[in-house]
Amino acid sequence: MKVNKIIESFMNMGIHLNERQAEQFSLYYRELMIWNDKINLTTIVDEDAVLIKHFVDSLLSTKVINFMEVKRLIDVGTGAGFPGIPLKIVYPHIEVVLLDALNKRIAFLDHIILILDLKNIYAVHGRAEDLARTELRESFDLCVSRAVSQLNVLCEYCLPFIAINGLFISYKGNKTIEELEHSENAIRILGGKVESVVDDILLDSTTNRGFVIIRKEHITEDRYPRRAGKPLKKPL
Ligand code: SAM
Repeated sequence: MKVNKIIESFMNMGIHLNERQAEQFSLYYRELMIWNDKINLTTIVDEDAVLIKHFVDSLLSTKVINFMEVKRLIDVGTGAGFPGIPLKIVYPHIEVVLLDALNKRIAFLDHIILILDLKNIYAVHGRAEDLARTELRESFDLCVSRAVSQLNVLCEYCLPFIAINGLFISYKGNKTIEELEHSENAIRILGGKVESVVDDILLDSTTNRGFVIIRKEHITEDRYPRRAGKPLKKPL
């Protein structure tokens, strides 16, 4: 992946990358493809498609909040590092925790952190339901999550990690409003309040990116999240 092309694609969305950041994206792509032959990381492999659908898409949340104000971020169900790693490359001041239930993906993320020489970023293996009962609970000012679950389930995975006044940004598609209607109960029970909904950011000529932005207003009761698997089986 050519550095100039990366710089140009980000420039089109108003993000100015320096040479080092563009090189980090280029390296990330190379390693993603090498590891993708050994372990299942992504079905998107075409260079241009990865650049837009993974790298640029990860940064679209910067259109809805000011990331310069974010200090500590958790990416729940990060997979091969989306959106957490692209956000870290562009905003290196943020302390980032990448969380995933699949250990093989954590091994890939550890490798990427090393090879891109990223600091203050940690890949953690485990299920959100279990890790929300550790010292990670209510310790983040921002939680992000893309393509992990339906919103009502996701709220139970994510809201317990967020400190009072912090935000949860859920990356959603064209069913954003519909999903939100089924999540009002979960959001209220878990201490959140919908701050805004965006469903018309254009990623490319065929794809829209939607976001639901939820603010944590109250502490999440100790009984949430319920034991691993329960949120998905029986959403709030
Ligand atoms: N966020 C990435 C992206 O947008 O490309 C990965 C999406 S992938 C479809 C969903 C990921 O969520 C998988 O890597 C899976 O292991 C992880 N996941 C699903 N449920 C989880 C849970 N309860 N706790 C932690 N990770 C979970």
